[in-house]
Amino acid sequence: MFTDLYAQGLKIHSNYSPLNSKRSPRKSTQYIILHTTEGGGKGSLAKLRKYGEAHYLVDTDGTVIRIIQRERIAMHAGRSMWNGTTNLDNVSIGIEIVGYHDKPITSAQKQALRELLRQLKALYKIPDNKVLPHSMVAYGRPNRWHSVSHRGRKRCGMLLARDDVRREIGLYSKPAFDPDVRAGRLKNADSYLSTVLFTVVPLATAMPEGSAADVIARGRSAWDIARENYNSSHTLYIFPDGSRKRGNEITDWNKLPPGTKVQIENKEVVEESPEVEKVQILGKDGASASEIAGAAIHRESTIYFMKDGRVRQGSEMTADDLLSLENGTGMLVGYVHGGVIRSNRRAFDICGPRWNLATTFYRMPDGTIKSGTEVNERNIPLGTMVFFQP
Ligand SMILES: [Zn+2]
Repeated sequence: MFTDLYAQGLKIHSNYSPLNSKRSPRKSTQYIILHTTEGGGKGSLAKLRKYGEAHYLVDTDGTVIRIIQRERIAMHAGRSMWNGTTNLDNVSIGIEIVGYHDKPITSAQKQALRELLRQLKALYKIPDNKVLPHSMVAYGRPNRWHSVSHRGRKRCGMLLARDDVRREIGLYSKPAFDPDVRAGRLKNADSYLSTVLFTVVPLATAMPEGSAADVIARGRSAWDIARENYNSSHTLYIFPDGSRKRGNEITDWNKLPPGTKVQIENKEVVEESPEVEKVQILGKDGASASEIAGAAIHRESTIYFMKDGRVRQGSEMTADDLLSLENGTGMLVGYVHGGVIRSNRRAFDICGPRWNLATTFYRMPDGTIKSGTEVNERNIPLGTMVFFQP
């Protein structure tokens, strides 16, 4: 019998996602991205397997579970960018740690991580400063709260940026600043997060969680508290007078009174679920185009799927066009319109290895939209339009 390299010093076993065999091999591996599940081990494993969202899960007792084979692509980083490279799923290994972004992990987890990282770093020649928490590389598209693309979409894995925690898992360096914010590609939308990520934070410094952090105040909006779940039916707003509304029932986001408490139900579900990019629906994901795309409403990279079947780019839309958009209009923000599939121009010719990513979308001639995980390159109908993240 062969000894699996990865078994050395680790309690490791395989419990592969049903999607494992469908995932393409990665061409290069430059980063390791560390996540926190924001929920218990059992539920997290089920969800990660179902969607193929990690290569490894490290449970609280130090057990390591393989979910996607390490040479294949796992969908763990979502909308991501580091040093100008986007879609980090294509160039990274994703490790989910059972735990929370602002709570200590167990010593069994630290031991397991130290060994798992040691092996992976050696195998792929990855330096310590390319082992990054998810929150360092995740970014948000323009929306009603932030008019431009921004860092601070998530705090996932945040504690894995702390120097004391990194030392315990065998990491002795980290990035000193955010290269995408510095280069102007992104705006920083979470100053607390960037402090944790890029400075030495003493162990005793409390994370601003707890009651006050869940309450809307001057300088703390619904977005600051609930992020992209602000308008979700899972997010509950308790007003100072005791009345309650869910995120999907609120229309005027500028009139939320200070003192409103924000509660997110099913935190483990909402925290990690939006990893899979979706077409945003007007009337459901936002009341207006600018609520969904912020200042990007007029950009070429904002795509509108009109109810009458037309597909248009923001650069073609007049102010009147935007006002007359019907509820149910689909929108993609931050996308390349790759054109149409023809017999001599297949999906791969248009977007290369991105063709089967969950973040790539196909608008079929009958008007339906499918993601890259739902199509088979050999039988995508001619005339299908392709949209992908740059
Ligand atoms: Zn994550």
